[in-house]
Amino acid sequence: MIYRYLLLDLDGTLLPMDTDSFIRKYLEAIAARLQPYLPPQEFIVHLLAATETMVRNKDLELTNEEVFMADFFRRSNLKPAEILPVFDSFYREDFPCLVCHTSPTSLAPQILAQALKCNLELIIATNPVFPRIAIEERMRWAGVDNFPFRLVTTYENMHFCKPLQEYYSEILAYLGAQPEHCLMVGNDVEEDMIAAELGIHTYLVDDYLINRSGRPVQSHYQGSLEDFLAFLRGMSDSL
Ligand SMILES: [Mg+2]
Repeated sequence: MIYRYLLLDLDGTLLPMDTDSFIRKYLEAIAARLQPYLPPQEFIVHLLAATETMVRNKDLELTNEEVFMADFFRRSNLKPAEILPVFDSFYREDFPCLVCHTSPTSLAPQILAQALKCNLELIIATNPVFPRIAIEERMRWAGVDNFPFRLVTTYENMHFCKPLQEYYSEILAYLGAQPEHCLMVGNDVEEDMIAAELGIHTYLVDDYLINRSGRPVQSHYQGSLEDFLAFLRGMSDSL
């Protein structure tokens, strides 16, 4: 199979981490920054509820950011003019410290360099529930920020989240790509492997496998991040 597009998940895939414990640390840190405006527990309830609304949204007229912000400020009664600069400060000053809850590996940049040798176009297909600044920061941690990406999905530029099929349809439409020319690489049986329902081929990276719904593990390929690098080397040898 000759692929043209490589869709790569970030958290738990290119950037090794236990996603659940990372999210717990992230919530603690952002709630601490918002403490002058709202008690941490209350803030976290609103943040998670607005995130849930964003993840379920199917209105293609609204970006993920628009859905999140509208729902968050409606629930919390906070004032956007007051709070948006606080979110910005959090992502610029506090978020970078969260790198200590991840385990970056040189395999990630090696994989991207190898993918370029295979003439693959690169897409960061991370769940677009975060602003671009937080996604670019995690790409820096992973050592992949300097590669020529055709698309990085963020909450500003996308209208759907994983695990909706619409997320992958939006990527295909943006690329003008046929699904069979795409390989989606990720660690989540539901969020990443669902791409197969559109005909996209899938590679399940199982170092930090997530299978929340306990569904049967189905993917075209499966292996560690190191196995995936070997897979790409095999692909370039056969070119
Ligand atoms: Mg992941």
